[in-house]
Parts: sequence; C-alpha cells; structure tokens
Amino acid sequence: MALFFVGGNWKCNGTKESIAKLVSELNSAKLESDVGCNSIYFLDVVVSPPFVYLDQVIGSISNGIEVSGQNSWIGKGGAFTGEISAEQLSDIGCKWVIHGHSERRHILGEANDFIGKKSAYALEKGLGVIACVGEKLEEREAGKTFDVVFEQLKAFAEAISGWDNVVIAYEPVWAIGTGKVATPQQAQEVHAAIRKWLTDNASTEVASKTRIIYGGSVNGANSSELAKQADIDGFLVGGASLKGAEFATIINSVT
Ligand code: PEP
Repeated sequence: MALFFVGGNWKCNGTKESIAKLVSELNSAKLESDVGCNSIYFLDVVVSPPFVYLDQVIGSISNGIEVSGQNSWIGKGGAFTGEISAEQLSDIGCKWVIHGHSERRHILGEANDFIGKKSAYALEKGLGVIACVGEKLEEREAGKTFDVVFEQLKAFAEAISGWDNVVIAYEPVWAIGTGKVATPQQAQEVHAAIRKWLTDNASTEVASKTRIIYGGSVNGANSSELAKQADIDGFLVGGASLKGAEFATIINSVT
C-alpha cells in the first residue's frame, strides 16, 4: 500500500480574496484517488496558508484536505511577541506544522537544535510535523550533502521521542523557488540515503513507515517522473501550490 503525502506551502502569499479563490479551486478539483484513503492508496493532502488566513481556510476547505501551520513556537505560549504556539494551531484546527524550512533556517537563522525542540513540542501537543532538511548549493558542490542532511536529521532525532507523525521533506536549498528542480536521480539518491539513515538510527520499521517527500521547484510537468522514484513518497510544493489546477495535477501524479 502506497502512502503518499502532498503539502502545499503558501508561504507569505495571498489575500482574503485570492485565498478564497484557491480554496474553491481545490474544493472542486478532481483528485483521482480520493483524498483520505481508498483501497489502493492512502494520500494525505495538506495546505499551509499564512497564519492570518488559517481560520478562513480551515472554515472553507473540503475535499479531505488538511491544514498546517508554517511554524510554531518552541514551547507553551506566553510573552513571545509574534509567535504562535502549537496549542493555538491545534485549537484552531490545524493538524500539521512545518519546521526547519530552509527560509527559516537561512533567512531567519534558526539552528538545528532549536528546530528539533520545536518539533518535539509540537508532536507532544498532537500535531504532525513536516520536518524539512536540505543542503545549500555550495554544500552540495563541496560533496557535503549527506553530512548536512544527516546532521539536520540527527537534531530532530535527538529532540523527538519517535518518528510517528513526522514526514521528512528533503528540500535542496538550491532548488527552492529557483525553477531548478533536482533530477529524479539526484532526489532519489538523497531519499534512499535518508531511509538508510532511519534504518541505522531509528529502526527498519521507522524507515519503511516514514514518508520522505521531495520539495524544490516541483510543478505539474515534473512531478510524475519524480513520483516514480522508489523512495519519493510525495511532495512539498511552494510556488505551484498557489495554482489550484496545477496543485491538483501534482497530487494526482503521485497516485
Ligand atoms: C518550498 O518552499 O517548500 C518549496 C519547495 O518551494 P518551491 O516549490 O516554490 O520551490
């Protein structure tokens, strides 16, 4: 049984009006294997709007699509201006949260251990975590891809108490928002290495159950070749998730 996961990261985009239009496109999209589950596939589809539109999306989205926060605070809420707690995300109806996105690592300076702790707290509070890892171009060129990715995974592993409810998103930084997608072979090589890392550092069961999704310039034209790779269990999509029809094409390409 395949177990796919497709996430749409809307980042800091949209207005009330454009988001209403996108939700309505997604609600009426024909998703070939019913989102939720059917006898052949399990498929999770999750969208991640900006915080201020979460309530709007949660109140209007259907088609079995779940909603994720784009970040959450490291612990219980309180005097942390500008932050959103895992409890608040749950309270409003979010099922997931994204942690370790490269924009937060490299623009906002979030460190591995901080990200790991945030994920541990969110998991404890019942959210699923989309845990992002990935190397920068210079790290790939220096032959350090696996070192960087394994170090990021280790920080998650050291903080969390288990991999249930974690989806790992491999997102090479050089492919995010650049239009420069990893080739199916490049992505598969890292996905297979991540699965092996899970076997060695967690268990064979965790390695076979944990979904490892690819992100970085995925679109309706390149998703089906990527989806054919043995260790690619879905996608995290940025730009192309802002277009309902194209996001539906990507979702349907993994079935
Ligand atoms: C992302 O932000 O997670 C992402 C993969 O973006 P894009 O699809 O636009 O490269």
